[in-house]
Amino acid sequence: MSDSFIQTFLLKVAARCNINCDYCYEYKLADQSWRRKPPRMSIDVLDQTINRIKEHVLAHELKGVSIIFHGGEPLLAGKDFFEYAVSQIKAQLEDICSVKFGMQSNGILLNSNWVTLLSRLKINIGISLDGYKELNDKHRLDYKGNSTFPQVEKALKLLFQPQYSEIRGGLLCVIQPDSNPIKLLEWFSKFGNTQIDFLFPHYNHYRKPPSKYDELYGYGYGLWLSRLFDYWWDNDIEGIKIRIFEDLMHLMIGGKYAVEAFGLSSVHLTVVQTDGEYEAVDSLKSTYDGAVSTSKNVFRHSFDDIFSEYLISSRIAKFENLSEKCRQCRLVKACGGGYIPHRYHPKLGFDSPTIYCQDLIFLIEHIEQRLLLVLDDEMKNKMITTIGTNQALPQVICKNQDTTLHNTVSDNS
Ligand code: SF4
Repeated sequence: MSDSFIQTFLLKVAARCNINCDYCYEYKLADQSWRRKPPRMSIDVLDQTINRIKEHVLAHELKGVSIIFHGGEPLLAGKDFFEYAVSQIKAQLEDICSVKFGMQSNGILLNSNWVTLLSRLKINIGISLDGYKELNDKHRLDYKGNSTFPQVEKALKLLFQPQYSEIRGGLLCVIQPDSNPIKLLEWFSKFGNTQIDFLFPHYNHYRKPPSKYDELYGYGYGLWLSRLFDYWWDNDIEGIKIRIFEDLMHLMIGGKYAVEAFGLSSVHLTVVQTDGEYEAVDSLKSTYDGAVSTSKNVFRHSFDDIFSEYLISSRIAKFENLSEKCRQCRLVKACGGGYIPHRYHPKLGFDSPTIYCQDLIFLIEHIEQRLLLVLDDEMKNKMITTIGTNQALPQVICKNQDTTLHNTVSDNS
């Protein structure tokens, strides 16, 4: 089978949001194409998108696909839309492949009617929030400047009820490097078993992180994550999966599959906008205006027509499209050069290591040190075969490290 296929179809069912997060790549950063898009996906666009997905499944003999409902805020599309979408997708695809449904929401509209519907339709729902009130309110306010925390906390309490465990997806949390990662993890863990994706904010070489760069600690994110790793690892935090750590450890010992931001596996995901335009991964909107546009549309083009687009094809042939520095780096099989939006450079395009290169070196070498203390010889050899060794590893064990070290790094924020 050719490597040029799409398996995860991210449908922008609503191109507007009901809250006003200041770091949002959809509305607040470089790309402003949302202003030209219909607020909701129409039934005509949805029907034609389903036709194109079916055509693609048959052409590539795919065994299974994922359909992710996304926005803006996807719940703004309304309950009738999801009833119709799921019934049509099942009618068209269920006889030819397996279908999984997912959604990423800010949780504001979530109530018992919604979770009942999502349960019936088997749509897995992930929630985005940045933690307890003080952290969440730094960036995730509504259009009047009010806190969104009470609503999202209510949504979490609802979703964590045992009867909804089947549809409860993970949590997305943007890292704030001047926060206390241990306090944050303890707060999350009170809800129950879950998976958390701690995300780097969407900075790049043009729009750099506000915290100060340091040759060892980068922008402070690697140190923050290392402190989180130590606490999570040493205390065996029951039921909390932290995807960045699990993915990196898996990749460091020779595994292949990880979230798009890491490793070298091909990324088989694309976006369909509310007007039916095919787009590259939406977080690229943080780089420059027009970054995600393909000018190709479900009414005139098939999914196969988009593989000529650099930002689609370069995520399939990942290693070949990394910078020279990354291709030579011993950590590349784990790091993967970092997430593509963070590699953007105004002169070099995407031919650059991520702006978080030093943060990732710090984090991966920290995890490497911790693993070397506990792995048996067979696993140690797997790790050495995958990422080699660095005899000159700095002493980065930081579980008892004073947070003032970290504050030095982020003083400029
Ligand atoms: S650690 Fe830096 S140089 Fe190495 S692969 Fe990652 S981004 Fe590239």
